[in-house]
Amino acid sequence: MNINVDSLNSGFSKEIKFDGNITLPKSLVYHQDAHIKGRGTITNSYGKYTFEGNIIAKVGFDCNSCLKEFNKEIAFDMVEVFSKEVTDDEEIWLFSSKDNIINLEEPIKTNLLLNLPMKALCSENCKGLCHICGHNLNDGDCGCDRDYIDPRFEKILHLFKNKEV
Ligand SMILES: [Zn+2]
Ligand SMILES: [Zn+2]
Repeated sequence: MNINVDSLNSGFSKEIKFDGNITLPKSLVYHQDAHIKGRGTITNSYGKYTFEGNIIAKVGFDCNSCLKEFNKEIAFDMVEVFSKEVTDDEEIWLFSSKDNIINLEEPIKTNLLLNLPMKALCSENCKGLCHICGHNLNDGDCGCDRDYIDPRFEKILHLFKNKEV
C-alpha cells in the first residue's frame, strides 16, 4: 500500500495496483484482520497527489443472529489527496518528503470503516439460534417447541396485553 512518487512529475499520472493486510480497530461486529485489494491512479498536480481508485476489502464478521463466522467483500471507491507540505486543508493527508512514499493504509482504513455495516448477518434469511437449546436453525430444525410459553409467564404476558388495550 506504499506508492513511490519519486519519479512522478507534476502533470503526470501513474496506474497502481496493490494488495495487503490491514488491522482494523476492535469491534464486536467485524474481525480486525482484513485483506485489501486496490487499483487506481495517482496524479501529481503541482505537488498535490491525488489517488483515485477502487478498493475491495475482504472482512470477517460474526453473524449477529446465529454467531457464525463469515467473510464478505466490501467494495468502494475512494479519492484522497496527499501533500508534503502542511496546508490548512484538513482533508489533505501529509506525507514525508524524505522518502517520497505515500502510504495508503490509513486512508484506506478510514474509508473502509465508513463502508462497514453496523450489523452483520450471514444471509438475509438467517434463522438464528434456537432460544431453547442454542442450535443453529440454519442447519435444520432441532425439534424444540419454541412456541411453548411457561405458564408462570403467561400471567405476566396477560398483564402486559391488558395494559396495551
Ligand atoms: Zn447467521
Ligand atoms: Zn432447539
